[in-house]
Amino acid sequence: MGSGGQSGTVMITGASSGVGLYAAKALAQRGWHVVMACRDLAKAKAAASSLEIPESSLTHLQVDLGDLESVRRLVNAFHATGRSLDALVCNAAVYKPRLKQPERSPQGYEISMATNHFAHFLLIQSLLDDLMKSSHPSRRLVILGTVTANSKELGGKIPIPAPADLGNLSGFEAGFKAPISMASGKTFKPGKAYKDSKLCNMITTQELHRRLHGSTGIIFSSLYPGCVADTPLFRNTPRAFQTIFPWFQKNITGGYVSQELAGERVAQVVADPAFAVSGAHWSWGNRQKADGQQFIQELSEKASDQATASRMWDLTMKLVGLG
Ligand code: NAP
Repeated sequence: MGSGGQSGTVMITGASSGVGLYAAKALAQRGWHVVMACRDLAKAKAAASSLEIPESSLTHLQVDLGDLESVRRLVNAFHATGRSLDALVCNAAVYKPRLKQPERSPQGYEISMATNHFAHFLLIQSLLDDLMKSSHPSRRLVILGTVTANSKELGGKIPIPAPADLGNLSGFEAGFKAPISMASGKTFKPGKAYKDSKLCNMITTQELHRRLHGSTGIIFSSLYPGCVADTPLFRNTPRAFQTIFPWFQKNITGGYVSQELAGERVAQVVADPAFAVSGAHWSWGNRQKADGQQFIQELSEKASDQATASRMWDLTMKLVGLG
């Protein structure tokens, strides 16, 4: 376990399973109070209890990130707790590679972009003031990225169904409602919709850093925790894939990371002094080594291009009702 760093209050989205749940445990063990922002409160409470996270370390708040109105209610509910906010972890995500047609959020947006990117973007914009007001010496905003959306790495070059690519963002510009389902305005590919949303997550981190780190001192970072091949993220993939994928990652690529280790890595990025680097995208590599150390992974041109990031930011502001 990493060490050091003053504890505080952290909100984690999607802490009812997988990486987010284990991050909640690791942060509670470090003395943090964890606001678990989850879709299903009963499930979140049962999950926390199964890992023996003390109830006194937790506040449970409900949110359906597929719905921007629900995100607004989450922000109000958090403010009603009277707590300060010292760190925010944007972790929740859906991956629905078998959809034949786009599923739509109540606002009419394709569901993976709506959940993974728009909801977090609105949440971040709504909680920035809270992070700014916090007196914690190292306020942090952490977003889960992924290797498959970073074409600087081998995992980001996989052409099935297609690499992440926002094109010229004409889909966002046209309002992103039916018949549009992709940021680029091109044909719906459900697996690519997930990658595109994660690319938006990583671009958001970079743009937050460029726009706000200097004036706020908040540390903005993203991470790839490793291939946590046995989380419920893969629940919508074919059964055979759910069996073969963890085996393949454990025995062939060496990329497999346990949920516990992935949660510990998130906690390190939130809390440990060694991770106080704004604008960093943290990785431990694609082949896991015993005692492997974190490093700052270079991002692809698509994730770091400033003109794309600025345009993505402005268009997303409009799509979430802030523009
Ligand atoms: P997971 O176990 O499926 O966790 C996803 C969490 O998001 C769950 O708590 C889920 O809640 C929540 N969620 C989904 N839709 C929601 C909604 N509409 N409203 C509120 N919460 C919602 O998956 P995971 O593997 O831990 O993924 C966590 C993060 O790590 C994601 O951002 C993912 O992209 C990233 N990541 C994962 C891997 C990996 O190999 N697994 C690799 C790189 C990055 P429910 O329990 O209600 O469904």
